[in-house]
Amino acid sequence: MSNILAITGRPNVGKSTLFNRLVEFKKAIMDNESGVTRDRHYGFGQWTGKYFTVIDTGGYVMGSDDIFEEQIREQVKMALDEATVILFMVDCKDGMTDMDKDFANILRELKKPVYVVANKADNPDLEMQSSEFYALGLESEVFSISSASGSGTGELLDQVVTHF
Ligand code: GDP
Ligand code: MG
Repeated sequence: MSNILAITGRPNVGKSTLFNRLVEFKKAIMDNESGVTRDRHYGFGQWTGKYFTVIDTGGYVMGSDDIFEEQIREQVKMALDEATVILFMVDCKDGMTDMDKDFANILRELKKPVYVVANKADNPDLEMQSSEFYALGLESEVFSISSASGSGTGELLDQVVTHF
């Protein structure tokens, strides 16, 4: 496999909603490791004739008290190992959180393309607010999207597939 897009970010930002929009076939892989049930979802998508695998990260079902830190570590490790391109998803409605900043600090070190995706930009006001995520200090432009409606996803994918 060569063209792999990983969707990362803290819980509830909309990773799975985007995943479901992007993929046509899916496969859940469950594994059990040191008391943590983890499910990774792999799917296959296509845009402008380019085919790619999408990974929905962060599918923890249960885990330790330190679940947030554990999620960051696992997601970044997987993205490092497997991804060609990484989407770092944040949430316009919630705005910037400490966990977003923690994620950004680690992703900034990666030698792979990372795109900042400000999800839930459901209306022009929220779209405007997405510019606050430039403060995360990643090289990427901030792509405002609504995974629920699909708006903005075309512009994002146009950029993503340049790496495939
Ligand atoms: P994940 O935990 O990052 O995988 O997030 P989910 O995809 O499960 O979404 C978390 C919640 O956000 C769900 O209630 C979704 O319906 C909602 N959601 C996802 N995308 C959007 C969006 O573009 N706009 C709005 N308003 N809600 C969304
Ligand atoms: Mg999810």
